[in-house]
Amino acid sequence: MKQGEAPPKGAWTGAPFGGVKAPEPIVLPDPAARFARAADRLAQLADGHPMEGWLGFLADVADAQRAAAETLSVVGPDAAAIRLAVEAGLPPLAADGFRRDPAWRDGLAALLRRFDDAALPVAAATVIVDLRGRSAAETEALADGFLRGGLDASDAGAAFWIAAALQVYFTRLAAGLEAGELRLLDPRGLCPCCGSTPSAGVVRGSGQTPGARYLYCSLCSTAWNHTRAVCITCGGARTLALRGIDGDDGAAKAETCDECMTYAKLFYDAKAPSLDPYADDFATLALDVMVSEAGWARHAPNPLLLMG
Ligand SMILES: [Zn+2]
Ligand SMILES: [Zn+2]
Repeated sequence: MKQGEAPPKGAWTGAPFGGVKAPEPIVLPDPAARFARAADRLAQLADGHPMEGWLGFLADVADAQRAAAETLSVVGPDAAAIRLAVEAGLPPLAADGFRRDPAWRDGLAALLRRFDDAALPVAAATVIVDLRGRSAAETEALADGFLRGGLDASDAGAAFWIAAALQVYFTRLAAGLEAGELRLLDPRGLCPCCGSTPSAGVVRGSGQTPGARYLYCSLCSTAWNHTRAVCITCGGARTLALRGIDGDDGAAKAETCDECMTYAKLFYDAKAPSLDPYADDFATLALDVMVSEAGWARHAPNPLLLMG
């Protein structure tokens, strides 16, 4: 089953002999549903939010990603390459090593086109014009810089669009894999498809395995099960604590670890059924600020906020 899909009618969802069913280890994305859900939730969260304009812009970006994801055609690795990677304990779509199909730049062009007539601030509009003017080789170099680290600070504006386009491309690729052929990685905190860090985790309130935590890949949108009350960065369990903002709806928490002094965000969909790990991550920056000021570092940056 993919994200955004309802279980097929009549499908067997219980454990065969009444035992406790183990959580599905890996849930591959449905690309259009992934971005449509983020767009809807961002629009909902923007209403009356202190960062209303910015969240509204991100909703437009997510909707442009949905449109690009619906039309982009991608060719992924062949079955033999996938099997080899999985047997070696490696992610088959390794973000820093996988040979990209130039088609990802079609997705980038489609994204940028959507903002041609948008009323963007001058600086943002200039970034788009500049990015359009880059050659294929320069654009590929930006993507390599983004995926492997080492982008120049002057490319901060371009990095946002590169990241958004790579999300579309890798999400389409991940959707073409078979969950049953994949394995969770060691370390468990990294995406089993592409090896990237997650944006956030969700503790599911319903479904086959209520209470299970899923991490959501910041690049390819794959979700994977991760034991709760274990630090996703260092695997420690002794000093974890959940911290939230007093007086909010209780759906967003930061799980802090004193062994490695990092935190990861965790959302409880029982408290906010329409939550989306990507949208809610943006809308809860106040929680990041609070926990960072208290001394914990985020386990990994949000790729769309990588450089300011
Ligand atoms: Zn991934
Ligand atoms: Zn830790």
